[in-house]
Amino acid sequence: MQMADVPYALPDERGHFGPYGGVFVAETLIHALDELREQYARYRADPEFVAEFEYELKHYVGRPSPVYHASRWSERLGGAQLYFKREDLNHTGAHKINNCIGQALLARRMGKRRIIAETGAGQHGVAAATVAARFGMQCVVYMGSEDVSRQAQNVFRMKLLGAELVPVESGSKTLKDALNEAMRDWVTHVEDTFYIIGTVAGPHPYPMMVRDFQTVIGRECLTQMPEMIGRQPDAIIACVGGGSNAIGIFHPYIPYDRVRLIGVEAAGDGIATGRHAASLTAGRPGVLHGNRTYLLQDANGQITETHSVSAGLDYPGVGPEHAWLKDTGRAEYVTVTDDEALAAFHDCCRIEGIIPALESCHALAHAARLAVTLPRDKVLLVNLSGRGDKDMNTVAERAGLHFYCRPACDPSRR
Ligand SMILES: *Cc1c(COP(=O)(O)O)cnc(C)c1O
Repeated sequence: MQMADVPYALPDERGHFGPYGGVFVAETLIHALDELREQYARYRADPEFVAEFEYELKHYVGRPSPVYHASRWSERLGGAQLYFKREDLNHTGAHKINNCIGQALLARRMGKRRIIAETGAGQHGVAAATVAARFGMQCVVYMGSEDVSRQAQNVFRMKLLGAELVPVESGSKTLKDALNEAMRDWVTHVEDTFYIIGTVAGPHPYPMMVRDFQTVIGRECLTQMPEMIGRQPDAIIACVGGGSNAIGIFHPYIPYDRVRLIGVEAAGDGIATGRHAASLTAGRPGVLHGNRTYLLQDANGQITETHSVSAGLDYPGVGPEHAWLKDTGRAEYVTVTDDEALAAFHDCCRIEGIIPALESCHALAHAARLAVTLPRDKVLLVNLSGRGDKDMNTVAERAGLHFYCRPACDPSRR
């Protein structure tokens, strides 16, 4: 089976999803991207490469991840049935590892021994450091210095895994600055270096390649749902940061017209406050990080500051394929606030015995909201993109329960 074996064949040769995507980069990066595009096109169709990818997913990541019927929560809501695709049970605790395995295998085939990555909250940095250790590669992770101090746990994990961490002091010292710095490194060391991007953003072929690797999520659901309930779900709901977990579960379902596809963006303190990260809902098209897509920008086209309680959704852009799915109407995009996501977090913990990532709680909150409007025989499949262990400090602070890792026990300060 091809990695994205569905009739929907986008993007075009130059990486366009309708008017979105493409390659908007400095001349110096064109050669590296050309090489990547050619090599990926070759290995994408190579049965040996695909088999190797599937082997790693099974034996290292622990796939297939199960689908779980959240029966107690569904009963309480009294409406549609909630099912969870359990990406939280993957090795390293989220969907990001699927993509990192794929890109690391490609790097190895291309003879690159050095991996670089950018990270915001540190989740992608940890996944990249993990696969670098697994395949015996050198790993350098760029991270805004603001984020380095906010994400001590993940910084420590990356170091344990043998990665070198480079704090980035430019700009706002966050994710977008780390991304620029990683691009600069790539230009300079392109001979031996592979740049692993963590979501369906960046210049072509990244949005397509990351999507292909993540479609394992939706392909598994295509067989798991009929086994469990005798048919496909009525709707699929996933949170959207850059959009990789969402496109991974949506994409194989695009030809299934009767399955609604619903992406959930972070409304932060509320769309009206301006403190949010809802690029598709409140942004407009522009160019950032090598592609054309919906962006949060001011009247002068300056990228605006974003906010979300979940660091993984805190990005001012979104993958170009989502921009296209929005414009064509095949997928719908809604928002959930910090408070709504936190309420869903506590419900999921107490009612189902599952501690979800705050990112995933945005999808859960919308699913619960939608379930109560639907009859009991409807089925909503939620992509539970990750587990919440990483969010203990945030949740404790918001709940006023200061029971977790205070600075005194912060491992990076020892
Ligand atoms: C990083 C992350 C996200 C957001 O990234 P996408 O590319 O939009 O999937 C969502 N959930 C979890 C658990 C994450 O770690």
